[in-house]
Amino acid sequence: MRVRLARHAGFCMGVRRAMELALAQAHHGEGPVFTYGPLIHNPQVLELLESKGIRVLGEIPPEGSVTGGTVIIRAHGVPPQDKARLKQAGFSQIVEGTCPRVIRVQAIIARAAKRGADVVIVGDASHPEVVGLLGHAQGRGRVVSRPSEVAGLPQLKDVVVVAQTTQTGENFAAIVQELISRFGPVEVHETICEATHHRQDEVKSLAQEVDGVVVVGGRNSGNTQRLALVAAESNKPVFAVETEEELPRGELAHLDTIGVTAGASTPNWLIKRVLRELGAIRSEREGGGSYILRRVFRFFVRSQLLVALGAAGMTCAASLLQGLVPHPALAATAFFYIYAMHILNHFLDKEAGQYNDPDRAQFLAKHRAFLIGSGIFSAAAALMLCFMMGLWPFVIVSLISLLGILYSVPVVPPSLKRRLGFASLKDIPGSKTVSAAGAWAVVVAVLPAVGFEVWQPAALALAFVYTAVLVFCRCAVFDVLDVQGDLVVGKETIPIMLGEAGTLRLVTWLLAALAVLVLLAPLAGLPAVLCLLLLIPIAGLALMQRVLSRGDVLIGAASEALVDFNFWLAGVLALAWWII
Ligand code: SF4
Repeated sequence: MRVRLARHAGFCMGVRRAMELALAQAHHGEGPVFTYGPLIHNPQVLELLESKGIRVLGEIPPEGSVTGGTVIIRAHGVPPQDKARLKQAGFSQIVEGTCPRVIRVQAIIARAAKRGADVVIVGDASHPEVVGLLGHAQGRGRVVSRPSEVAGLPQLKDVVVVAQTTQTGENFAAIVQELISRFGPVEVHETICEATHHRQDEVKSLAQEVDGVVVVGGRNSGNTQRLALVAAESNKPVFAVETEEELPRGELAHLDTIGVTAGASTPNWLIKRVLRELGAIRSEREGGGSYILRRVFRFFVRSQLLVALGAAGMTCAASLLQGLVPHPALAATAFFYIYAMHILNHFLDKEAGQYNDPDRAQFLAKHRAFLIGSGIFSAAAALMLCFMMGLWPFVIVSLISLLGILYSVPVVPPSLKRRLGFASLKDIPGSKTVSAAGAWAVVVAVLPAVGFEVWQPAALALAFVYTAVLVFCRCAVFDVLDVQGDLVVGKETIPIMLGEAGTLRLVTWLLAALAVLVLLAPLAGLPAVLCLLLLIPIAGLALMQRVLSRGDVLIGAASEALVDFNFWLAGVLALAWWII
């Protein structure tokens, strides 16, 4: 079965921001931590927040009845009076989780009310966002949900119209028309959120191109339900599910191509679980060959064989950059070391994996014994090969392996931990990305120089920097994809420090600087054609970064394969240059 994922599926900006604030409070906030009302309309996310100790505050407690604690205001916002009452109740910290787009509507209403205008809010009077907006109107607000309700309004003067952010454009325009007919000219602020528009437009066109649509999201989420209704207008079968367990596998097997979208309150990990389940369904029309190929591809990527072969390829490129003949023992060492490092780390990092990559988590659980066994065998094989190469290769790989083992072990005494803010290397923000880049660069670039005992400082430096930057960017790009799961488990990755956009910008700058360095390398005597060829994998990674920064979502193993393909490519291009 082919699966197509809508570009704007899942958390919108406002919901993601509120989730990030809530999870940050769960890990570092002043407890106890509450959200004022359910943070989002998704039962699985609410369960998760509860498991992190974040409880829902239904009613504001009486004045002075609480001693400390944190309350997070959800993305919909609240009336200003509620914030004041929360403070009076005794909470020490009120965290503003209101979506910036909702804050903008609140500001328009507050300004209009201040000058004495009458405010009409187009929306659903019982929706929390509208309740919050009304609170900013200082008693001068009215809510209208349909054009026919305009006739029931009292006589108004100086009318200002705004919309609940998730309204449809058609309904808003029709109500504005009625208001003009009744009251004459009115001041119109079309405050419908683009995220809603995009999502609905996208599902309309996606539904035309597929045999059926799966909509993932909470049953009580209004925007998820609207997405299902929009998809149903295409007369294609629509399956609205909260989790992968609700997918009707029998019905789906009749279909060849499935489109997937998700409401603004659906987290990535739920979407990924649905994608994994859909990927495992064999469509009745799918040939045996293509199904088997798909499974083999998945095994190849999920088992880390792809990235380990990429390390072997990079070793050939790094050797040739240093004027060394690619040696099978060096390529094999890199293959075994990187395979062992990646496989064993995935088992040590199981909790985040459940959220970040449920497909891989399932694969690892299914083949646990084989993978752990092969990981240990590979680590031993890498050390054995190094030992055969000489003392120094063995010492170097043993040292970086030891550092890898110590990575998660608390080495800082408790007295220093509070001052430094970390107990182990793992707790240092971004350390995983930096240490992976360093370990790759040592095995791929330094080991050939040590093994052959050939020292060309400029060439070695370029091979080291080339490997380290490509691996750093690879990890940073994956960290951006995994940011929701990492936030859940409290991992301090680079996107959590710099933000997703900031990380993608950093990747762009690093790749651009690397490209300039590779272009200038022939001036230091390095082979010009090889340097030009090695620009191609840099461009490949830059392209992936661009795809991600546009918000495109690639499905599971495909995104990983496209990033790791660049390491292969570096090796293949370097070998082709050498042979020709
Ligand atoms: S739908 Fe738009 S306005 Fe509402 S929370 Fe999301 S980004 Fe903000």
